[in-house]
Formats: sequence, structure tokens, C-alpha cells
Amino acid sequence: MSQKIRIAIIGAGPSGLAQLRAFAAIRSSIPPESFPEIVCFEKQSDWGGMWNYTWRTGVDENGEPVHGSMYRYLWSNGPKECLEFADYTFDEHFGRPISSYPPREVLFDYIEGRVRKARVRDAIRFDTAVKSVTFNQQTQRFAVMVNDYLNERCYSEHFDFVVVASGHFSTPNAPEFPGFETFPGRILHAHDFRDASEFKGKNVLLVGSSYSAEDIGSQCYKYGAKSITTSYRTRPMGYQWPRGWQEKPLLESVQGHTAFFADGSRSQVDAIILCTGYKHHFPFLDDSLRLRTDNRLWPLGLYEGVVFTSNPRLMYLGMQDLWYSFNMFDAQAWYARDVMLGRIKLPERAVMKQENAAWREKELEIGNDAQAFTFQGDYIRRLIARTDYPDLDTDAINRIFLQWKKDKKADIMNYRDRVYPSVLSGTMAVPHHTPWMEALDDSLQAYLEPSTLNPR
Ligand SMILES: Cc1cc2nc3c(=O)[nH]c(=O)nc-3n(C[C@H](O)[C@H](O)[C@H](O)COP(=O)(O)OP(=O)(O)OC[C@H]3O[C@@H](n4cnc5c(N)ncnc54)[C@H](O)[C@@H]3O)c2cc1C
Repeated sequence: MSQKIRIAIIGAGPSGLAQLRAFAAIRSSIPPESFPEIVCFEKQSDWGGMWNYTWRTGVDENGEPVHGSMYRYLWSNGPKECLEFADYTFDEHFGRPISSYPPREVLFDYIEGRVRKARVRDAIRFDTAVKSVTFNQQTQRFAVMVNDYLNERCYSEHFDFVVVASGHFSTPNAPEFPGFETFPGRILHAHDFRDASEFKGKNVLLVGSSYSAEDIGSQCYKYGAKSITTSYRTRPMGYQWPRGWQEKPLLESVQGHTAFFADGSRSQVDAIILCTGYKHHFPFLDDSLRLRTDNRLWPLGLYEGVVFTSNPRLMYLGMQDLWYSFNMFDAQAWYARDVMLGRIKLPERAVMKQENAAWREKELEIGNDAQAFTFQGDYIRRLIARTDYPDLDTDAINRIFLQWKKDKKADIMNYRDRVYPSVLSGTMAVPHHTPWMEALDDSLQAYLEPSTLNPR
């Protein structure tokens, strides 16, 4: 390569950091004069994406929509063994076994540990929001326009490739129900939920039946809500809920504090939390560059789930519905890196489209959860086989996912006390020093408390 290529990464969450890490992994094998110039734009003042907790809701200190949807007391909702980085194990980071469902701050620490080691922070321009990305057909380059809030300036730069790693759990899908305008309590979307203790002693209605409803409901229950009602559109979650938690079909309307459901029943509610999902939202991308998809395992328009088929100089990371997370972002980032470096040659567009359609066909055949995580595991394996990312035994991870599902079915309020082995190091996790239902302090410090190191 005669001239340095320039690469823009949008977002320094786990996906954007995976991209930086992928390049750092080959830094020493490429002469400095031909190593790409990489700029990562991050609108928040720190890295970690969703895992970088903020108390803010609405707009942030710069007037940008708040990115964070995570809340206090959030503990991983899947076993950490299913997301472990293949090039940086939990053992390497913590130096001792920890539990399988760590709280947010512990996972943030782990994410940060790897990128600190890789020394990639200098490539990130913080407090810098990407406002517009356009592509010039003649020069085959992108113009990326940003707002740099630290220096109070707006500027544009040109890049040969753009990697969109801006996440897709930030822009709420928020339906309205009759009676909302005059509801005398608080109505919020899960995106704005921050602290379960706000709902102590209250009757809380959660609209939705996916991870947010399950987890925010559990948080509210744990921190003292009077009752929990969850309302589903298609089917109930079907767990054995504790006393005081009921599942209802879809909410039809509210009148005063009374909520009416599709089966004719009603409940008294003090607060309503819309756990109704998120939209893929890329307001900064030119129309021709925008991925349009719902939250699913195989979004159309991305070759190998990464390369935007309408413009293969544009990459998207982490846009799939997530069973796998951090390790999938890695597999994608390593693949994207090798495409951008010309190490992986892309087929003709028609072939990309055909392959995409075939993946979509396979996706449509998925009939249960086990098939869904197997599908994603196979996809990750396929990507890894094309690059030098360390191999990952996705069959073993799929078995942990299966056990996790069983453990949730057996005891939804206590499944986080279960432990699993790492498929990378073989290390068996140890139960946390306090059962999840009693662990009210989710800080890193309390989690790693030396006096409570011994497993129960
Ligand atoms: C409530 C909640 C709980 C979750 N729990 C789990 C869990 O237990 N386990 C798990 O594996 N996953 C969980 N997830 C999924 C989580 O989204 C992923 O783990 C991961 O954070 C996705 O990484 P990402 O980098 O793709 O996106 P994000 O983490 O969302 O990061 C995107 C980054 O892009 C930045 N950005 C966005 N727009 C711009 C712009 N215009 N300019 C500059 N920067 C921009 C954002 O500020 C952010 O830092 C959870 C998600 C939510 C919402």
C-alpha cells in the first residue's frame, strides 16, 4: 500500500473498541508508514458504550441524545462465559475466578482492561459526535462531519473507510396507549430507567415481554416494588414469577390509575415502564448509507453481517440481535479489518446479495432459542476461520447458553447464582459472595471485596 488509508470508527463501545483492538493486534507486523490512520469518534467523554453508566436521561451535557440505557444495579443477564474475549480471558484480567453474572461495573472494568493493555485510547476523540457521513463516488472517500464539544468546533475530515459501531439499543421504540396523556403517574421507556429504588412500594406495569421487561421487573421486585405486572403482545415470558408478579396480555388502555388488558382484566398501577424495544437509528448517515433493519439475527444488506453491500467501504459492527456479544463484535472487527486491508477479497455485489439472501432463508427456518444461538455461533465461527482471531469453541458456548435457559426456567429470580466453566481457560466460575437477590451493592469494590472472597 503506497499511501496510508484513513479509517473512521463511529463509537467507542465494545464494537468500536473491538475494531481498535483488531488493528492493534497487527500493529507490529505492518511497517508504520503503511499502517492505516485510524480515528474513532465517541460522543461521550469515556469509552465502554452502554457499559459506561450515566445517570443522565434525555439529552446529555452537550445537548446530544443520551446514549446510555443501562441502569444502576444491572448485572449481566447472560453468563460471562458466553461473551469472553478469546484474546483476553477473565482469568487474565481478574487474576482469579469470579462469578458467572458480574455487575455492570465489573464488566466495564474487563472491557477497559483489554483496551488499556492494547494502548488504543489515543486514537479516540471523545466528546465528539458524528453529525454527518456522505460518500463521494468520484474520490471514493467519505466526508465525516463532527461536532467537537471539547473544543467547541465543527469540522470535516475525509476517510477511505467508515466503521459504524454506534450500537442499536439507544433510540426507544415507544408506543402510546389510550389514556397515557392523563395517567397520573410516571410513564417512561426502559431507555430512561435508572434506579429501581424509585419504584419501591409502587405497583409497576411493564409493557413488553423481552429481556428489558424481565430484568427491569426483577430489579423493581428486588428493590421493593409492591407489585409487578408485565403485559405481553404475543406470548407470556412464562417463568415462575414470585408472589406479587403477574403476566397479562396486551395493555389496551389506562384510565386514571387503572390499566385495562386485552383479556378484560384490570390492574391498579402507579408507574408504567415501556419495555418495547429499540430502533436501529443512524441520523448521521446519508440516506444511501443507512442500514434499514429491525432487531434480528440476519439484517439484510450486510455481507457476512458486516460489509454494507451497497457500498463495501462502509462496515457495520454489532447490528444483529444479540445472543453472543463481545466475542461476536471481535469476530466482526477482525473480519472488517482484513477487508479494509485488502487481505480478504470481496465477491461481486450480486454474489454478496445471493449469499445474504441464503443466510436470511436460514434465519427464517429458526424455530427455537437453541437454533438461534447455534445460528449465531456458526456465523461467528465462519468469520473467525477467515482471520487470525483466536479460535472459539462455539459448540461449548452454545451448551452454556442452553444450560442458562434451563437455569432461568428453573428459577428466574436466582439463576444468577449459578456458575459455568470458561471455554477458553477451563476455569470454573465461583459463586458470588452474596446471592443475587440479596446483593444490593453492585459496585466493583463490593464485588471484589477481599473479606468476602471465599465462595459460599
Ligand atoms: C439495558 C441493557 C442491558 C444489556 N445487558 C447486556 C448483557 O448483560 N450482556 C451483553 O452481552 N449485552 C448486554 N447488552 C447489550 C449491549 O448493547 C452490548 O453488550 C454492547 O454494549 C454493544 O456494543 P456496541 O459497541 O455495539 O454499542 P454501544 O455499547 O451502544 O456503544 C455505541 C457507542 O457509540 C457512541 N455513539 C453513538 N452515536 C454516535 C455518534 N453519532 N457519534 C459518536 N459516537 C456515537 C455511543 O456514545 C456509544 O459509546 C445490554 C444492553 C442494554 C441496553
